[in-house]
Amino acid sequence: MLLFYQYKIKVDIKNNIYIYIYMTKKRRNGGHRVRNRGRVIRVNCNNCGCRVAKDKAIIKKLNRCIINGNIQKDIMDASVIPNYIIPKIHINEYYCISCGVHMKIKQFR
Ligand SMILES: [Zn+2]
Repeated sequence: MLLFYQYKIKVDIKNNIYIYIYMTKKRRNGGHRVRNRGRVIRVNCNNCGCRVAKDKAIIKKLNRCIINGNIQKDIMDASVIPNYIIPKIHINEYYCISCGVHMKIKQFR
C-alpha cells in the first residue's frame, strides 16, 4: 500500500518515528488553467447544467449569424442598403470536463 503513495519518514529526538503519507496527484494544477488565483467565478455547463469553475471549463467559441441561413438571402435582397452585411454574434459555450470529453470537443484533459 505504501508503494503507491509518496511518503516521508521523520525521526524525533526521542526516537519517535513519524510517517507522513501524501496522496498522489494526477495533475499539477488540479485541471485548472491558471494557478495561484484563489476563487474563480463558476459557470453553468451547456449540456448537463452543472457548475464548473471558469478556468477549468472547456470553452467553445462560436461566431455565427443572427439570422438563419435560409432567410438570410431574402433579407439581403429586400434591404435598402446595398451590400448589407448581416451582423454576427459571438457566443462562448462552456462545458464541464466530463461533457467535453464525452462530446469529443477536447481529447485531452
Ligand atoms: Zn456537463
